[in-house]
Amino acid sequence: MGFREECGVFGVWNHPEAAKLVYLGLYALQHRGQESAGITSLHDGRHLFHKGLGRVADVFNEEELNQLIGDSAIGHNRYSTAGDNLLANAQPLNATLHSGPLAIAHNGNFVNGEKLRQELIQDGSIFQGTNDTECLLHLLAKCKNEMLGALKESLKRISGAYSLALLNTDKMIAIRDPSGFRPLVLGKLDNSYIVSSETCAFDLIGAKYLREVEPGEILIINNEGLHSHRLEHQSALTQCIFEYVYFSRPDSTVFGQSVYETRKRCGDMLAQESPVDADIVIPVPDSGVPASIGYSRASGIPFEYGIIRNHYIGRTFIEPQQSIRHFGVKIKLNPQSEVLKGKKVIVIDDSIVRGTTSKKIVGLVRQAGATEVHLRIAAPPTIAPCYYGVDTPNRDELIAANKSVKEIERFVEADSLKFLSVEGLKRACHGEKGFCSACFDNKYPTPLFDAPKG
Ligand code: AMP
Repeated sequence: MGFREECGVFGVWNHPEAAKLVYLGLYALQHRGQESAGITSLHDGRHLFHKGLGRVADVFNEEELNQLIGDSAIGHNRYSTAGDNLLANAQPLNATLHSGPLAIAHNGNFVNGEKLRQELIQDGSIFQGTNDTECLLHLLAKCKNEMLGALKESLKRISGAYSLALLNTDKMIAIRDPSGFRPLVLGKLDNSYIVSSETCAFDLIGAKYLREVEPGEILIINNEGLHSHRLEHQSALTQCIFEYVYFSRPDSTVFGQSVYETRKRCGDMLAQESPVDADIVIPVPDSGVPASIGYSRASGIPFEYGIIRNHYIGRTFIEPQQSIRHFGVKIKLNPQSEVLKGKKVIVIDDSIVRGTTSKKIVGLVRQAGATEVHLRIAAPPTIAPCYYGVDTPNRDELIAANKSVKEIERFVEADSLKFLSVEGLKRACHGEKGFCSACFDNKYPTPLFDAPKG
């Protein structure tokens, strides 16, 4: 199947320290991808770039940043599945087309990327890496039109999720696919325009949030200002609901709504749907915190920090092997027996994927003296993999694709386990329609051209 990734993109047009702002922006978007980072700047009609494997702080030092001179720049953070973490896949991708240098930073996943790649290879294209984004470069290279026409023509052949930032020699371009799968926002800092995957990056650099790049919009930013165009193909709005559940930072406004407030509403809804008698509500930090606040507020059961997180460990999901994942939970989360001893405890987490984390946490909370452990998940069971840019394991590794809620309850050894319903989640996100919730309901909004059969 095609390559799956979740990423962060950031771009700055017209600022004397463009690359440094992009560096800061990528820092704020680090949660969206930690396997590679890169920046391309525009100086005097030329592109300068630096990229590498690892986090932003590992990839750039002051000297490298100082070399990225120019008034405009785009950058990218990437998370990929293990094995394909090649430097050739690090973005922005840089190429020289007939129209001159072009850099592309992409968040999302083309569902026909593999099919397109094979067609392009048959047609003589030579690929450098294994990521789907490169297909767009090849399609653009084959178009004889000017950039706007070439983009419209090329993107018509691409299906799936794309929030893109592009930079050539006289403009920066921001594009969101017509379904609006992934977020992309526009901001302003003095006379500079900024694009970002999330608004939390605007806060860091002091930029003002203007609006979302609209689904199906091609936003051209040049020295004359902003020019909004539309992609020629259209489709129904299917924004990724998982951005609210887990992926985005809580201090971002995503799809026009606060992630933090949305997560609190998920907790509130969960308390209404699945109440239980208990002494305290505790979050699995950090992702379960807003939902716990919501659950506590709705149920009247006091909120406590029952598990303290060591912040210097990477997210468990980065680790590729089950053995390391188990270890990861232990070094990352420390339950406080002073808080938990003799208590009936509600533990709130944002989601269950493989189930290994939850099992460990229930065990740790019990060992710390809790008399009952009731697990409440502020999302529905994850029953299907994502093909639109969130890295989820294959179906056979998704515990909820293979076990009933009762079986998962037994597996994690909780006194009770309940998930938020799909309807409850949509209500918390203020939308019956307009979301892709395929990971929770197995209803994919596009054909899956590259997905494995069965
Ligand atoms: P597990 O059930 O052990 O696979 O881990 C579940 C935890 O991983 C959740 O509590 C989330 O905080 C986090 N998580 C959820 N979805 C993802 C994802 N797509 N990628 C990485 N981590 C995730």
